[in-house]
Amino acid sequence: MMNHSALFNGLLINLLVILIIVLLVNFYHLSKKSVNKSHMGPFQFFVTNMVLIILSVLLSHQLHSGFLYDLRFIPFLIGGIYGGRKVLIGLAFTMIAVRVPFMGHGLIVTILLTILSSIAIYYLSPKLSEKPWRIRVYWFTLFSFCYSILGLLIPSLFFDFKDYLAFVIYSGVLTVSTFLVLYLCEMIRLTVILQMESIKYEKMQVVSHLAASISHEIRNPLTTVKGFLQLINEDPTNPSTNTELSKVAVSEIDRATEVINHYLSFAKPHPEEKTELDVTMEIMRSKDIIMPLALKKGVTMDVELSHNHTIMGDSNKLQQVFINVLKNGIEAMESGGALNVVSYEEKDRLLIAINDTGIGMTQEQVTRLGEPYFSLKGTKGTGLGMMTVFQLVDAMGGTVNVQSKVYQGTTITLSFPVVTG
Ligand code: ADP
Ligand code: MG
Repeated sequence: MMNHSALFNGLLINLLVILIIVLLVNFYHLSKKSVNKSHMGPFQFFVTNMVLIILSVLLSHQLHSGFLYDLRFIPFLIGGIYGGRKVLIGLAFTMIAVRVPFMGHGLIVTILLTILSSIAIYYLSPKLSEKPWRIRVYWFTLFSFCYSILGLLIPSLFFDFKDYLAFVIYSGVLTVSTFLVLYLCEMIRLTVILQMESIKYEKMQVVSHLAASISHEIRNPLTTVKGFLQLINEDPTNPSTNTELSKVAVSEIDRATEVINHYLSFAKPHPEEKTELDVTMEIMRSKDIIMPLALKKGVTMDVELSHNHTIMGDSNKLQQVFINVLKNGIEAMESGGALNVVSYEEKDRLLIAINDTGIGMTQEQVTRLGEPYFSLKGTKGTGLGMMTVFQLVDAMGGTVNVQSKVYQGTTITLSFPVVTG
């Protein structure tokens, strides 16, 4: 009887250790907030699960001389499923290597089962990775159940080992634990994926919202050019005014083309790519894209840049940040106003302050800023704009500072580390 409760306790402690380490590693990874690298690299996977396998073996319970029972199959399975084939092979070696010092007949069973399950994971994992996550959890739980049965059946066939209660305890705890840990891992993965999706979704919302004002703004130069062409047509003999008119027409068209290009390049989905960014260019492009909306709302824009360093980041994401903040500023000034962008440097940081003379926010609203779905714009707002800003700026190693006074205006200051040397 003592032996059984010791087995049960040992397995539960093992589960606790696995859960704590899986959670810690995942939260550490999430806290780094890198938006693109949402999943751990193979090396991290390997090390984490290798440590877990070793810890599990150290916590294992010897049921029958030479046979160790623990949950080391769980880290092996997780590493094999999510880490890819190289990690799987590495962990299979670990599984066998850590078992060697303990010797006993169980070693043979371990080697046999490890090889068998490695082959199974090798073929199952790619097939199941296309399936919905629930299916994946069910299948691998079933797989773990089979492993636990084999782990007991083989010794009982050859070594006169007929402890049925131990069968139930080991198999039950291993199966349930596998389910728990896999479920947890899938939940964490899902959260990360949703987070990335919401940034994409948010961009689509902004893009479609800006489309109306952009197309309106393109119509103006077209009308101007049309008028010029008519003038030239009416009086083709006047070369001096005609050259002047066609020069203006060409520059108007060039300008419109540029705005469309910037807008389209922003709208296009981009794979994230960190490069050295020329902040001036990014601000100017964002200004181009947002300008039509500002004109529509009677907002004047003034940009005064005095920085001379570059920063690291993704160009498209940085534009998304600027456009979101600028758009909020414009929307805060329903009856017109001034939107100012200034940049400066302080120590090793590049700061960009975006100031509006709009309705402002109360202290309570400022603290809620960045909360998903916090919006005072009713159906016009998504409440995802500032959340995206915070996440993207964070991923670039930057910070966001908000100063606001009701009915006076808001200043949002973004601060990024500069590229030195
Ligand atoms: P949305 O713009 O879709 O409402 P955001 O996350 O961009 O969502 O902004 C959330 C809320 O914060 C806005 O609804 C608005 O009430 C407030 N807010 C954001 N920026 C400003 C600003 N510059 N001035 C006043 N209020 C602002
Ligand atoms: Mg917004």
